[in-house]
Amino acid sequence: MEQLVRLKDRITRAAKASGRPEDAVTLLAVSKKQPLDRIKAAIAAGQRRFGENYVDEALMKMDVLSDPALEWHFIGPIQSNKTRHLAERFDWVQTVDRVKIIRRLNAQRPTGSAPLNVLLQVNLDAEPQKAGCLPDQLEALAAAVEEAPNLRLRGLMAIPAPRSDPDEQKKVFAELKALHDRLADRYAGMDTLSAGMSGDLEAAIAAGSTMVRIGTDLFGARPD
Ligand SMILES: *Cc1c(COP(=O)(O)O)cnc(C)c1O
Repeated sequence: MEQLVRLKDRITRAAKASGRPEDAVTLLAVSKKQPLDRIKAAIAAGQRRFGENYVDEALMKMDVLSDPALEWHFIGPIQSNKTRHLAERFDWVQTVDRVKIIRRLNAQRPTGSAPLNVLLQVNLDAEPQKAGCLPDQLEALAAAVEEAPNLRLRGLMAIPAPRSDPDEQKKVFAELKALHDRLADRYAGMDTLSAGMSGDLEAAIAAGSTMVRIGTDLFGARPD
């Protein structure tokens, strides 16, 4: 999978250019709407972390691929009637943005499973149509996750509005990093900043992202 090699090289170069260790940033392969043969090719090339947006589609892929070495991240908007599947089948949920969801995921995580890794999604540009909490709600949400024994607060996630100017991209990601670090002072398990996509991953990595989320640039355009 030539695209995977190229993408990893781009990530490594961005990390080095920012004076960060080569392995500071992990790649989340966003496999939503991608056919199984492309996902299998990525697995064969060594990719283990996959991001999915649609619960039913994700469960089907988990069942077919049935590989315990894979790590599944939910990155879509959360409907409260689907939290059971998220709690039972995913390793990470990156789009947690309200207390109700935190309570449900905690209650529905099966006993015997490792705690579910949670990122709080921040709506940095306060876009009304977008999921994510506002920055001033982070405090209360972090406290709620911390009180939930079956969840583990790992960090923040954001999907900023697209900007073409790299300096503007960096500014937004720097705000996200500052929000993350302020909480991480108090919540020791916070080690993950999920930020950066194909159009802005260099800016995200310069600001401290530890996980970039890439779909099309890795797998090709989504069919249909
Ligand atoms: C779809 C999606 C991506 C990847 O988008 P591409 O344009 O395919 O790279 C990243 N993050 C989230 C939250 C997404 O929903």
